[in-house]
Amino acid sequence: MSESSSGALYVVATPIGNLDDLTPRAARVLAEVALVAAEDTRHSARLLRHLGLRRPLLSLHEHNEAARVEQIDARLAAGEDVALISDAGTPLISDPGYVLVRALRERGRRVVPVPGACALVAALSAAGLPTDRFLFAGFLPARGAARRTRLEALAAREETLVFYESPHRIRDTLADIDTVLGARHLVLARELTKAFETFLEGSAEALLARMAADPDQARGEFVVMVAGAEAVAAAPAVAVEGEALLAALLAEGVGVKQAAGVAARLLGGAKKAWYAQAQALKEARKSH
Ligand code: SAM
Repeated sequence: MSESSSGALYVVATPIGNLDDLTPRAARVLAEVALVAAEDTRHSARLLRHLGLRRPLLSLHEHNEAARVEQIDARLAAGEDVALISDAGTPLISDPGYVLVRALRERGRRVVPVPGACALVAALSAAGLPTDRFLFAGFLPARGAARRTRLEALAAREETLVFYESPHRIRDTLADIDTVLGARHLVLARELTKAFETFLEGSAEALLARMAADPDQARGEFVVMVAGAEAVAAAPAVAVEGEALLAALLAEGVGVKQAAGVAARLLGGAKKAWYAQAQALKEARKSH
């Protein structure tokens, strides 16, 4: 599969719920690699079984990732290809893999993305919030004070804000969004691609009320999307023409030298030139 004599690491996206979302290319890569590095090998063994595959699995999670670099690099050096998958969606996106990919790239190894499902992209694609610019902020901190501080740091951002959230904290997070960001428009994508996929929208306060009325709405996995801050309208630029400014100053009884100084400070240019212009204007006023 590799073009060079050393192998490649394939970073393979897997489904976030609906198993049909695994791409044919992902299935082919998983069938052909010598080793699959997976966040949770038991979980991934089920996916491989579903595909009718039996591949050697190696666990790779945030606690052993650095230690796995040498092992995986040795396999690549021997000309074998390796796949990296996470429990769901695209590896490295709020999932392990960054340390490995960084280290392999530093060593000049080939790292190949095999794109597919990603919860934040799926959520944004159907939410109806602006997507021309967005800020993905991953999971907010678990503790309330740290969470509110993080939200405060994002409060002025005009891009759509995107967070991942678990069912344990969704209510606390909505309450903090309400406190810190106020009555913004939110879209909550729940259980994407699964049986109970739901999109709810409204203010954080309204969404909390909805969850209080129907606790099922607080179950499952969430992508929280928040409309960006309203752009603060820029103060209208006042275009002042040099001659009009000088004329107004002279009419107010300001001297030629002072008027030239004000014009140079406000509008730039050489004070000498402004002086000459102010002098000419004064002469013209006199002759009228
Ligand atoms: N790597 C994954 C991706 O590409 O989206 C994300 C992994 S992260 C550990 C798990 C979080 O992603 C969940 O807590 C939830 O916020 C979001 N997520 C994953 N699957 C989801 C789904 N089917 N519906 C909504 N959110 C989901």
